[in-house]
This record gives sequence, C-alpha cells and structure tokens, in this order.
Amino acid sequence: METNYIAAQDRYSKMEYRRCGRSGIRLPEISLGLWHNFGSVDRYENYSKIALEAFDAGITHFDLANNYGPVPGSAESNFGRIMRDSLGPHRDEMIVSTKAGYLMWPGPYGEWGSRKYLMASLDQSLKRMGLEYVDIFYSHRPDPDTPLEETMGALTDIVRSGKALYVGISNYDDEQTRAALAILRSNGTPCLIHQEKYSMFVRAAEAGLLDTLEREGVGLIAYSPLAQGMLTDRYLGGIPADSRAAKPTGFLQTGEITPRRLEQIASLNSIAAERGQSLAEMALGWLLKDERVTSVLVGASSVAQLHANLRALSSPHFTRDELLRIEAVLND
Ligand code: NDP
Repeated sequence: METNYIAAQDRYSKMEYRRCGRSGIRLPEISLGLWHNFGSVDRYENYSKIALEAFDAGITHFDLANNYGPVPGSAESNFGRIMRDSLGPHRDEMIVSTKAGYLMWPGPYGEWGSRKYLMASLDQSLKRMGLEYVDIFYSHRPDPDTPLEETMGALTDIVRSGKALYVGISNYDDEQTRAALAILRSNGTPCLIHQEKYSMFVRAAEAGLLDTLEREGVGLIAYSPLAQGMLTDRYLGGIPADSRAAKPTGFLQTGEITPRRLEQIASLNSIAAERGQSLAEMALGWLLKDERVTSVLVGASSVAQLHANLRALSSPHFTRDELLRIEAVLND
C-alpha cells in the first residue's frame, strides 16, 4: 500500500546534527528506536505515523534489532513496510541500524557473537526490512565465550561485503570496548558508535566509557534516555493501563517503579517545572549537555510523545545550581 506521503520541506531546519565521534557521519540529536511500539502487537496506523512524523522533524536515524517486536523480527518487518509504503524514496537520507546478539532462533547459532550467527542474522534482517544494506550493524552484547577477534572479524567482513556501512557495539563495558575498538581499528573498519543505556537513572557510562569513546573518536548514542518512561510524567499519578509498565509485552517491570523512584521523579519534575519545561525535556536536555553524547535514542508510543520529546531540542542551559540540585535528588 503506497501512501501519499510527502516529506516536510523544512525537516532539516528543525533538528541539530552532531558529528559521530571522528567519523564522517552526523546524527540527529534525537533518534528514534523501534524496540517497543512497532511490533506485531501494535497498530500500523499508529507506528507508521510516528515514523513519518519523526522523519518530518529531521530525525534521520532509526534504530532496530533482529529481536525487536514482539514477535521477534516483527519490528523489522513493519519498518520494511513503512519503507515500502512511504519512506523508501528517502533511503539515502536515512541512517538505519540493526543488531544481533540476543536470542533470535533456537539452537546453538541463534544468539551471542559467533560469525555464523551475526552473518545469518544480518541476512535475515535485510530480508525482513527489504533493504540491501544497513548503515550501522551492531554486536548487541559482548559474548564471554566467543573470541572477540571472531565477533569483530565478522563485523569487519560484513562491512567489506557492503551489507553494512559502519560497525557499532552495544552494552560492552569500558574494558571490553577498548579491546573491541583496537581490533576493529587494526582490521581497517573503525567502530563508528557505541550504544549504551544512559539516563539520569543509569550512569555507568560516566565511569570511564565516555572518556574512552571521546579519546578513540567513537560516538555514543544513549538508549532508554527516559528510563523507559520513568523520566516523564507517565507514572506520577500511578501506573496507566496503556503504559509500558502495565502492558504484558512491556520490558519495564512495575517493581522498578519503587516509592523511592517515585519521590525522585516528583522532585525532578519540580525542578523541570521551575525551568519551564517537562521532565522528559529536562531528562533529554541533561544528556545532550554533554557534547560527547552524539544522540539520544528515544522510544514513543504516540505522535504526541514524540513531539513532546522533540521539544528537548530547545532545552534551556543548565545553571550550576540546577545541576547540583539534580545530583542531590539522584543521590538521595
Ligand atoms: P525511552 O527511555 O525513551 O522510553 C520510551 C518509552 O517511554 C515510550 O515507549 C513511552 O512508554 C514512554 N515515553 C516516551 N516519551 C514520553 C513522553 N514524552 N511522555 C510520557 N511518556 C513517554 O526509550 P526506550 O526504552 O524505548 O529505548 C529507546 C530505544 O533504545 C529502543 O527503541 C532501542 O532502539 C534502543 N534500545 C537499545 C538497547 C540495547 O541493548 N542496545 C536496549 C533498549 C533499548 P509508554 O509505552 O508507557 O507510552
């Protein structure tokens, strides 16, 4: 079904783009992730609208993985449908990423980091999305039992085959990252980007990874920057029935929304209000104040949420006092 989609003429005037490490690629400060809300349990009318609105707002980067759904694989198939129906003519304006690392099919070759799994998985992903290549192919998680040379070697060969333009790694800690970057560099396919969970509530990246990536000229894209919705007003008044925490297919567990968390969320929400913005805007602006963060990778279950998050692009500067108050809340 081809739609009559015509991309907004002014899309590139609305977004800021940051250079990804020391590469030739610039990414939008806000990117869109398809982990939730784009699966076979979701409605095409809703998620295709989110994707098109995102593109109209200057979001050029769409992030997927082999297992996104549910059911696993369905986010890629559904994204393929959006490409066929509407976004296909803009392929050269887009950075599409996918990953392999988590369980995708049964047997010994359906997860982790072997050459066998990574190569087969990317072929499957390309078929589902109807694409000839992805822009970034990630190792989704480190594999303790496969030599790093094998995993990185597979990524290198995938780039040489033309099925991916760049290599990324995700969920590798600082030490694993340094080892992976060294191999990729010596293979002649330097790592473009690291995808790491990073938000006000999850700050492991600050312990060394951000410094390593800066030194090595590799970008960082922060995933779950809103802590899956906790760093918004979503849970301030309880757990809404249509929220990720309430849905059986949602990854956010109600047990994570503890009374302490709720207190922190309410205090952060007050600071945001004093700054004249929403908590979601402040949470994204807080990450983007660090120039080493190339992009924040948000999810959205509605067009309204997407637009609310895009307002973070005009987030006011943080004063020293505000930053100290935010630290006090987070350390409380
Ligand atoms: P976020 O932290 O942005 O959470 C998104 C969710 O928060 C939405 O689905 C929605 O949940 C809620 N939300 C978003 N905006 C608002 C708003 N303005 N007001 C109220 N609620 C809002 O990111 P995700 O956890 O979705 O992760 C983003 C992307 O990161 C993924 O799609 C994926 O691409 C990537 N990722 C990568 C991983 C990796 O291992 N590399 C792991 C996880 C994610 P609700 O349904 O309640 O409306």
